[in-house]
Amino acid sequence: MKQQELAEVEPEPPSSWSPSLNRPSGKKQFHNFYSPETYFPAKEKTQSDFITSCFRHKHYPGVSDKSWNDWRWQLKNRICRAKDLESYLTLSSREKAVMSMENILPLSITPYYMSLVHETDYKDPVRKCVIPTEYELVKGPGEKEDPLHEDQDSPVPGIVHRYPDRVLFLATGFCSTYCRYCTRSRIVGQRGAYGIDRWNSGMEYIKNDNRVRDVLISGGDPLTMSDEQLEYIIKGLRAIKHVEIIRIGSKVPAVLPQRINRKLCAMLKKYHPVFMSLHFTHPDELTVESVKACVSLADAGIPMGSQTVLLKGINDDQEIMKNLNHRLLQARVRPYYLYQCDPVPGSGHFRTTMEKGLEVIQGLRGHTSGYAVPQYVIDLPGGGGKTPVLPDYYQGQTIQGQVFKNFENKLFVYPEAPDPAGISGLNMITSYDLSGGEQ
Ligand code: SF4
Repeated sequence: MKQQELAEVEPEPPSSWSPSLNRPSGKKQFHNFYSPETYFPAKEKTQSDFITSCFRHKHYPGVSDKSWNDWRWQLKNRICRAKDLESYLTLSSREKAVMSMENILPLSITPYYMSLVHETDYKDPVRKCVIPTEYELVKGPGEKEDPLHEDQDSPVPGIVHRYPDRVLFLATGFCSTYCRYCTRSRIVGQRGAYGIDRWNSGMEYIKNDNRVRDVLISGGDPLTMSDEQLEYIIKGLRAIKHVEIIRIGSKVPAVLPQRINRKLCAMLKKYHPVFMSLHFTHPDELTVESVKACVSLADAGIPMGSQTVLLKGINDDQEIMKNLNHRLLQARVRPYYLYQCDPVPGSGHFRTTMEKGLEVIQGLRGHTSGYAVPQYVIDLPGGGGKTPVLPDYYQGQTIQGQVFKNFENKLFVYPEAPDPAGISGLNMITSYDLSGGEQ
């Protein structure tokens, strides 16, 4: 594709289409997550969770499977106007309070992801992630538009260079579905700012700094871009000799799994090693569709990790987190980071205490496979970078050695290795060579 044509390819505009108002009331149906047959159907055919099927039947009765499973149809029919929410949900007073307000993070939800939102329960975890409430209007102390100082660490537009050997490449400001707690709420939704000129200058910057061996393409959500746009960037980066790995940060497998199709996977396979940092928040996001998307990416040879944000009343619970991580592993996604929620304006109702975060991690370590235990980190405000937050397993030193508390709160001692100088000084076993055999 020529450069001019590339620049002209834009994501689908917000839809003005409104769904049918004719919706029966009903309780949320829960997914049968544990059936391998459900996860990995013997015959490849389009399957939909029961809950999504019911939703489609109610709100999109005339829409064919072909349209529903077309990611561009999903993008074109996003729910973007607050007043349209009333067609799908019984809104609480706190949700209604922001309906007429401006200057809040843009609203956008794919029809698919809306099918996972509980119709009447405003405490539903998935609902809390994407439906605005008046709490967003409350700015707490210390909350900043750019708490991580990404703008200050940006040498050229669209590049954040904080750590010496890796950069963040912001390819788009567009997401198919906006998370209400988004760290980049200051820039998401700004579609005009990104394009071929910015991508080219970002690639030029990387080309001129041979320390950069790892590039994370993020945004916004890069998987909302066309294959041609995405390939233009990936191909350009792959042509830079010192770029060893390319990573893509995306929430698409959770909110727009239809995007992960054969054509995309075939394109990505050409540029290995390509990694993906996915964004899953709650076990309810691990549906047949999203698992299938992850499995397709894994089959394309893409190692995946999930970056989960710790969110109050959504996933700050040991059992929910364990469940989420187990399901991610079943979908061949390694739980990678558990983030303390960043202090962006209006995030106070999402942020939970660090004590709670440590409690969640302690509920995992030793209680499940190590692969199911992400690293709990805080991205330090002011650009300090990701810093691990660890439970205090290490208790200190005694004459017997180093003392540790295990996952059951029992104490154990690890004996220090003898100091070779001390042994020799005491004339204890002088005939032994410490590197191995007897002299
Ligand atoms: S998908 Fe990522 S960039 Fe987009 S709104 Fe959610 S957290 Fe922000």
